[in-house]
Amino acid sequence: MAFNYHPELLRPYLALSQGTSIQAEYVWIDGDNELRSKSRTITHRVTNLSQLPNWDFDGSSTNQAPGHDSDISLRPVAFYKDPFRGGDNILVLATTYNSDGTPNKTNFRHSAAKTMELAKDAAPWFGLEQEYTLFDLDGKPFGWPKGGFPGPQGPYYCGAGAGKVVARDLIEAHYRACLYAGIRISGINAEVMPSQWEFQVGPCEGISMGDELWLARYLLVRVAEQWGVKVSFHPKPLQGDWNGAGCHTNYSTKQMREPGGIQAINVAIEKLSKRHDEHIAVYGEDNDLRLTGRHETGHISSFSSGVANRGASIRVPRHVAEKGYGYLEDRRPASNIDPYRVTDIIVETTVLDK
Ligand code: ADP
Ligand code: MN
Ligand code: MN
Ligand code: MN
Repeated sequence: MAFNYHPELLRPYLALSQGTSIQAEYVWIDGDNELRSKSRTITHRVTNLSQLPNWDFDGSSTNQAPGHDSDISLRPVAFYKDPFRGGDNILVLATTYNSDGTPNKTNFRHSAAKTMELAKDAAPWFGLEQEYTLFDLDGKPFGWPKGGFPGPQGPYYCGAGAGKVVARDLIEAHYRACLYAGIRISGINAEVMPSQWEFQVGPCEGISMGDELWLARYLLVRVAEQWGVKVSFHPKPLQGDWNGAGCHTNYSTKQMREPGGIQAINVAIEKLSKRHDEHIAVYGEDNDLRLTGRHETGHISSFSSGVANRGASIRVPRHVAEKGYGYLEDRRPASNIDPYRVTDIIVETTVLDK
């Protein structure tokens, strides 16, 4: 499909009065762990979630329902300022339910919300490091030399300068779009493989982690659409001596964040070590291609932990070990995780003692 976005032609229309109406873009997770959205007019400004109606869509077109029973309902769970339309327009994050009222098979928020409610006294915080890779429409990593490869990894991570980083304009636009929307994006950096980048969201408490990461992903694919660039969340987008893409999950409870919290961190690591396989099962598709024990990863088949160790499953940051409190980093989750599943199981294991 050709690149057909013309922001300069759109601009005068975005300046037209909307009267008292606003546009609400309902965003949801589809049957392939990707994002979909559609728009509706709301005839008044929205200041509260309860002002947003439920809606529905054709689940047979999104791998979420069979054709004979295809209506899936969308229940709004959060809304954010819309950086594309501006003004009072909003992006609405919605979850999916079947016609009988049960959560759709793709709706992992339903379970995570219950877990977070049960664990709320522990005040679980997360910070996710979303890595991703940009591709052009022909399927080549964006900005890579035609018919060849860039030089080996080394100069690209946090690089500056032509030949070291690509697409900084796109990445910057996404950063601003997140800030405008109210996403708690905490930073961005260029990654080890050229055309691979990372953004971090957090700290976010409980269920809001999954909500904000999904919305930040949505903003990324929408911004990239304007550049005619595809975003891949695959954990090993290129075979060979190129780093894979992860979604490191930084995690703490109230106890861990207080002086002496390193003890609670060590107890949590011990609990995590006993459920390695259960965790790996929800830590992303094709993660075996990434967790090879090379390229700054621990091996998928064994659990390990260590201070400042980037080859371990769990890393305790050096500054945390020195201060004696803070958080841990679970390095196992892949870039294509559903953050609801990952935050759910971490709290289940470490707080609810499943
Ligand atoms: P790395 O050194 O692994 O690259 P980053 O700086 O990319 O780490 O990301 C660290 C993440 O950890 C950020 O999203 C930050 O918000 C989050 N974070 C910081 N403190 C805490 C905490 N106490 N609990 C959970 N997450 C935290
Ligand atoms: Mn990072
Ligand atoms: Mn990284
Ligand atoms: Mn990290």
